[in-house]
Amino acid sequence: MKKVSVQCRNIRLSYGSTEVLKNVNLDIEPGEFFALLGPSGSGKSTLLRLIAGFNRHQHGELLVDGRDISRQEPWDRNIGMVFQSYALWPHLSVWDNVAFGLVERKVDKATLKAKVGAALELVGLSAYGERRPNQLSGGQQQRVALARTIVIEPQVLLLDEPLSNLDKTLRVQMRQELLALQRRLGITTIFVTHDQEEAMTTADRMAVLEQGVVQQVGAPATLYDYPVNAFVANFVGTMNTLEGQVRSRHGDSLVLDVPGVGDLSIPLQPDMLRASADQQRLQLSFRPHTLKVDVADAAPDARYIWMPGTVEASEFMGEFTRYRVRVGTQSLSVDQPHYAGLSKFAAGGAVNLGLEPSQMRLFAA
Ligand code: ADP
Repeated sequence: MKKVSVQCRNIRLSYGSTEVLKNVNLDIEPGEFFALLGPSGSGKSTLLRLIAGFNRHQHGELLVDGRDISRQEPWDRNIGMVFQSYALWPHLSVWDNVAFGLVERKVDKATLKAKVGAALELVGLSAYGERRPNQLSGGQQQRVALARTIVIEPQVLLLDEPLSNLDKTLRVQMRQELLALQRRLGITTIFVTHDQEEAMTTADRMAVLEQGVVQQVGAPATLYDYPVNAFVANFVGTMNTLEGQVRSRHGDSLVLDVPGVGDLSIPLQPDMLRASADQQRLQLSFRPHTLKVDVADAAPDARYIWMPGTVEASEFMGEFTRYRVRVGTQSLSVDQPHYAGLSKFAAGGAVNLGLEPSQMRLFAA
């Protein structure tokens, strides 16, 4: 099957006077597993339903394989969608549920049998054709919904929160199955999720949406390491933030006055220089595991920017210990990798926290 691209060009969609999608531009590559990630109400489902043809945009173009399909009806689009609720027919057997779309397309009996059989085999449900949906587990129902969609051989597969109805263990297992299936079929797949772990573990690339605006598009590691703004930084992974006033600048370093912490002298990487140019207030962000934690009186390692703090609480997670450390008026998360024999910092104890310059991000406050 030919792999196709999906492109959104300047797409705007309003419900009444409320603009829900604001000039959305996306380039989804042929065969890509692409995630739309964002908080509830950010417009993810609206965008997915628009690609399926259930919603109509007022402005812009939707191209599949380079052709604008904006005016095509959903059933003419050759796009398959799996709904969050699965939407299986309760009175039909698994076999008949999967056969439904082919029967509607008046496919001959032999082809129908071969295709339904192949689709059920693909999702590992060959032995379950006679069952009704209510005789299946949640994960199996999800697979029926998938089989029913891929049996019509769509060029694009859309998944709306595909794993949200499953319990945590099954969710982790199913996301690997889903990815393996997508790789076998090679079908361009777009899935919606509010769960950043789900997006990061499966997607080739993802788009982060907030209030109908695409904030950033890229590979999971790119968004995690190089978020373009504070929203993406906080939505993808855990982030500590210190906000302060720029006190002075000298070439490629600046001094940030953080209330309760004092002056921090920050060397700037080229992209940080750009982000901080002309700004008087800045947010300094860094991930919990990039902080170094040391006893208060240790000789400071010059590669880090050190801040004194007090341990408020700690949680032992096995692989690491997560500390809450008070620094001035702020409370920061610090993850320290754990090894046998490593002693922990006690609550109430004084520590030194080391920021590694290459792991910091700066955003306009
Ligand atoms: P998400 O999938 O990210 O949770 P949605 O796409 O469902 O977000 O919704 C985006 C925004 O559009 C929300 O503010 C929601 O209330 C609004 N919205 C969604 N569908 C409709 C509709 N049919 N009529 C009016 N407003 C809607």
